[in-house]
Amino acid sequence: MTETRAPLASLVTVGNELLYGQTVDTNAAWLGRSLAQLGFRVTRTFTVGDDPGPIQAAVGSAMEDADLVLVSGGLGPTPDDLTKAAVAQLLGREIGLDEELLQKLAARFRAAGYDRLPTPNRSQAEVPQGSIVLNNPQGTAPGLGLETDSCLVVMLPGVPRELRSIFEGDLTHLLRRRFARRLEPVQHRTIHTTGVPESRLSELVSQLLPRDMGPVSLAFLPDLRGVDLRLTARGVAIEEGEAWLTRIEAALEPVVSKWRFEAESGDVAEALNHALAGAGMTVATAESCTGGLVAKRITDRPGSSEVFVGGVIAYADAVKVEQLGVSPEDLREHGAVSEPVALQMAKGVRERFGASAGVGITGVAGPEGGTPEKPVGTVWIALAVADMAEARLVRLPGDRDAVRERAAQAVLGWLHRKVSGREQGR
Ligand code: ATP
Ligand code: MG
Repeated sequence: MTETRAPLASLVTVGNELLYGQTVDTNAAWLGRSLAQLGFRVTRTFTVGDDPGPIQAAVGSAMEDADLVLVSGGLGPTPDDLTKAAVAQLLGREIGLDEELLQKLAARFRAAGYDRLPTPNRSQAEVPQGSIVLNNPQGTAPGLGLETDSCLVVMLPGVPRELRSIFEGDLTHLLRRRFARRLEPVQHRTIHTTGVPESRLSELVSQLLPRDMGPVSLAFLPDLRGVDLRLTARGVAIEEGEAWLTRIEAALEPVVSKWRFEAESGDVAEALNHALAGAGMTVATAESCTGGLVAKRITDRPGSSEVFVGGVIAYADAVKVEQLGVSPEDLREHGAVSEPVALQMAKGVRERFGASAGVGITGVAGPEGGTPEKPVGTVWIALAVADMAEARLVRLPGDRDAVRERAAQAVLGWLHRKVSGREQGR
């Protein structure tokens, strides 16, 4: 294990429903990620049922080596909420009424139309002695911090929305103050790519990666749509980390520039729409095997009305002929999944919809319908932009969903490269 000054954190998530798999423990994942971002090293996570003995055992053992223990769940007003009493007893604190908190709670219920504070909620104003009360903007159970000689223990409600809002507000301030000089934030930078296989990308990248990566590590994160390169800097101050990330990113630029796209959402459709709008262009789609997926991906993005004209889902041959002007002879001679048909779909929809770009897709998504010369996964994608039209054959692996997803992504990525000038004359 590497030597670190970063403060150590452990998590305890409480709830029978977590143990029995009825609720997925998203709090542990979210807290782990948020603590790492703040600069903690998260060492252990415990999950226990709604039971004082196991709660105390888990918190006690988490406290043995952690500087910070976060406990989630069981802070509510109902009888199955036992965390507060269990932790108070473990730390030897009396529980008493916090007048200020009681007033706040009462005001909150009055504002919600109650004429008095419901009796069970009164217990939420009872806190262990010496508690740091953390405001809950989304609910009634506040977060509670307890300092011991070696450790800060913080209890948070289990409802994810409430836990997150406390963490992002009062708790982040408290942690920054309390652990200021020791925090070692993890900094990420993500380079999104699409259209290049992971193995090829990794080969290209390894040729350019500087030998000295400093505090930066690189991960390849592939999915059906593409490969993200994630650069992570750890264990240094923010400015130094940023400088390293910028240096490594610049070193990779020559290999990634063609395939790269920039999008907050990580979706190439966002980058495409942006590029189309920037170029004053519009697009129309003619889709067979993707059944409208390309149009959906484009219109999923807000503001797409600026760039998207419309589309035709041309499944039957008759629709390809009548709505898009595809030649019946070509359909007979080459089949629906063919270069001339994809080209005519793209050109036809572009002309008929008066768009600057047309997209055509026709392929065999499976599981049936494959032949020896056109097996499942055979897809022709075509682009018609101004007076140029081009079709490409792609052979896509996977089941029906995967083929459709990959086909839509292939054409979106290609059009993005074309419109943003990353792909000229080929
Ligand atoms: P409440 O005031 O609502 O009673 P609480 O602090 O008592 O809050 P719990 O009763 O433990 O919290 O859980 C409330 C809700 O939050 C439940 O629906 C539960 O499934 C969900 N929840 C609890 N813990 C987690 C967790 N670790 N991850 C995701 N969801 C959780
Ligand atoms: Mg509860």
